[in-house]
Amino acid sequence: MEAPNVNLINPTTVALFIPLFLVFLLILKLIRFFYYFFSKKYIDLHFHLDGSITLDIAKKLITLQNMEMKSDAELDKLLSVPENCVDLTQFLSCFKYPVSLLQTKKGLSEAVKLVADNIQSHGVIYAEIRFAPQLHTEKNMTQEDAIKAVLEGAEKTSLKINFILCFLRGPKTDKKLKKNNYETLRLAKKYLRKDGGVVAVDLAGAEALFPTSDYEELFDEVKKNGIPCTIHAGEADGPQSVREAIKLGAKRIGHGVRAFEEPELVKLIKEKGIYLEMCPTSNIQTCAISDMKKYPFMDFLNDGINVTLNTDDMGIERTTLPKEFEYMKNTFGLTDEQEKKVILNSIDAAFTTEEVKKELRRKVNYKFF
Ligand SMILES: [Zn+2]
Repeated sequence: MEAPNVNLINPTTVALFIPLFLVFLLILKLIRFFYYFFSKKYIDLHFHLDGSITLDIAKKLITLQNMEMKSDAELDKLLSVPENCVDLTQFLSCFKYPVSLLQTKKGLSEAVKLVADNIQSHGVIYAEIRFAPQLHTEKNMTQEDAIKAVLEGAEKTSLKINFILCFLRGPKTDKKLKKNNYETLRLAKKYLRKDGGVVAVDLAGAEALFPTSDYEELFDEVKKNGIPCTIHAGEADGPQSVREAIKLGAKRIGHGVRAFEEPELVKLIKEKGIYLEMCPTSNIQTCAISDMKKYPFMDFLNDGINVTLNTDDMGIERTTLPKEFEYMKNTFGLTDEQEKKVILNSIDAAFTTEEVKKELRRKVNYKFF
């Protein structure tokens, strides 16, 4: 009996297939190269969920929650900082309407997805979204429900995100606020992850009215529990607020603009390798600095201080991270090389694992070979 023909692979086919396969791999590599090399990659470490609700996102949240739809003009007014904003306290009053859209699990979860998708379209490859769980309990959510809702939202986007829980500033005599801040702390402990969830805490609110030093006891607990933290400081209050935030254990400072008023403090920030989360458009709108010509970002950068660039509240400020970089380039002459340094600073500063940081650096430093 004749043996069956086992030579199913024709040598001519193989000879054709191999070069075709190599061409295919080369095309894939080229696509990747063009994607990573020619499109900017950004990291946003400092922005608030409620302040990042754009007009489009607001409309989607209104429809989703069967709320009363408003005209674009009305929404525009409710979602923007007024031209004549005089300080951080007035700026903070602009959050009332966006916060009202984030009072259900559905709304909060969808907002995370929509905001994440929005910034991803601007080139952001990693973001840390901050929010104060206690601001989302006006209807029937608890702080824990709010945290679960944002974590659910994170599952619906392909952007790599983590969360920072904000404590709120307020009068020392406000017992309810104190209780709420301690509940946020309890939940921060419960949901803390190295990556992929809650990764840190923050202190936000009217800094000029309620000094950072009032929160020593709270941050002692943060320290005891090994929770990473950043603190808004040196925005509406002066250098002593930044000094206090460092004392409370902050490895990152939200803004820190006014640190420049005290050279000794600038030295301390440098020595300790503190990261500054700077947000120029926000600083203009809250009048954190009277003369933007004196904005210290470039001096800090040139002095070797770890500055990062962020949006803070892209919705109500009508900004994006690429716009913040453009502003620094056009107004202060930030070079491409410096831009890259700032982005790499953000990766170093991120509250995530070394493994994630390595992957982010690889994307930012992408090389063909
Ligand atoms: Zn902020």
